[in-house]
Amino acid sequence: MSHLFALLIPTLVTLSSIVLGESAQLSPLAPQPDWSTLQRYTGTITAADFEQLLQQVYVPDGSWRQWISLTPSQALITPYPASAPISLELAPAGSSLKIPTRFWKAREERSPQPGKPLAGLRIAIDPGHLGGAFAQMEARWFRIGNSRPVEEGEMTLMVAKLLQQRLERMGAQVWLTRIKNGATTSLRPGNLKNAAIGSLQEEGARLPITAERLQHEEERLFYRVGEIRNRASLVNTKIKPDLVLCLHFNAEEWGNPNHPSLTEVNHLHLILCGALSEQELRHEDERYTMLVKLLDGTHREELGASETVSRSLASATGLPPFVYHGQKAIPASGNPYLWLRNLLANRIFECPVVYCEPYVMNSRAVFNRVQQGDYSGRRNINGVSLPSIYREYADAVAQGLADYYGGGTQ
Ligand SMILES: [Zn+2]
Repeated sequence: MSHLFALLIPTLVTLSSIVLGESAQLSPLAPQPDWSTLQRYTGTITAADFEQLLQQVYVPDGSWRQWISLTPSQALITPYPASAPISLELAPAGSSLKIPTRFWKAREERSPQPGKPLAGLRIAIDPGHLGGAFAQMEARWFRIGNSRPVEEGEMTLMVAKLLQQRLERMGAQVWLTRIKNGATTSLRPGNLKNAAIGSLQEEGARLPITAERLQHEEERLFYRVGEIRNRASLVNTKIKPDLVLCLHFNAEEWGNPNHPSLTEVNHLHLILCGALSEQELRHEDERYTMLVKLLDGTHREELGASETVSRSLASATGLPPFVYHGQKAIPASGNPYLWLRNLLANRIFECPVVYCEPYVMNSRAVFNRVQQGDYSGRRNINGVSLPSIYREYADAVAQGLADYYGGGTQ
């Protein structure tokens, strides 16, 4: 770390003079959108449905009006500041809607098979985070003394592999976005200096860009942004699934990973794409991908599948719903487990996403279960008979999908 610091000092002097430029119109590492592709949605949505999705799901603060204006027959969409708007023809009110051209199929487009509730369904499982050599860099690792480390990236991969077997037994075709711990992207923090400078400048021109902040941002752009973008590219161009399952374990602040604080708090929630802020919407790529999600009709599927998965997870785990305070998330429906929140990993997968956040890893109860590893059957853990936490998670998600697509396990 010290050699990096020494190398960076001379360059820092010149950085402060760089003015925030065009690059800030895109979020970090985002490709330039091709707005002409939105024409494939011609006549696929009415003005009323468009406005309802913008106002109630995707941009509830109303700032979409700075970029989009709706008449009964067309949407005028401004691709970037001061550009002429592009026009999208809307479906007349009350008309029967055309399904947009998209690679995934909604539940109602499938033909169920008896005994195989997921027959023909294409599912990509995204085991959250990288794990392995990067677990500490991505701050998804802690241990107590000589305990088994609690490592989210490894835990999500274990659930993913168990879940794959269960979904395949019900007829689904399943892909994992990673099959081992580590990175799928070939990017590394050392390649990302310019992007990191750009993103730090956008955060606040008055804060000095120290070597420590720069390194931290280069690493974040690697393990969070570059890695997720690579997985999304795999999903959107190769796997082309009907659904992505993003698997995570939640946590409360644990402080020092070698002396973490444990908590009695434990909870569950699922995240649906939505609730973009005015500031996020200033990124051209975020506006574009939000519109693709909206016009593809993903919200209805995300809501339906997340409803049944939240019910089966809540029933299997007994966990109470997590409650967000602040602006970044809002309730998605009357179901207290479902929240709308704009994450890279639920926005850039171009299909419905069920994004699971069960269990607080540094709760005493979950920590004790993680120490047991994976096992079949049940074990007595502090006086309670429990299945492996990984199997409980995988069984519940599989059940929730069977309930959604097949009306229950058959
Ligand atoms: Zn996570």
